Amino acid sequence: MGFFKKLASVLSPKGDNADPYGIHFYVQCDRCGAVVDARADRRNDLSRQYEGECAFVWRKGIMDARCFQLMRAEVHFDERYNILSQELTGGRFITKEEYEQSKAPQT
Ligand SMILES: [Zn+2]
Repeated sequence: MGFFKKLASVLSPKGDNADPYGIHFYVQCDRCGAVVDARADRRNDLSRQYEGECAFVWRKGIMDARCFQLMRAEVHFDERYNILSQELTGGRFITKEEYEQSKAPQT
């Protein structure tokens, strides 16, 4: 995927600290390649677990805006919201940089 131009430094992401309860996952649809910013809210969206080292689970159906395929994410966290494992059916997890490059206008 080296054909995207390096625009990350130009975009200068801001406001990361304005959303202390949000955990963002960036996903890409397997079928059409559309990218989606999926937000998990620590207060509302995580299911508490009481067995094993997994403390929270986030399950989410994510629909992209191009082909409307429903992707299913399941992410396991420990007590400190560190990600233990993550799975995505119908797509794949990408980095924030990949997401921003995909959203940037192509020249
Ligand atoms: Zn799609």
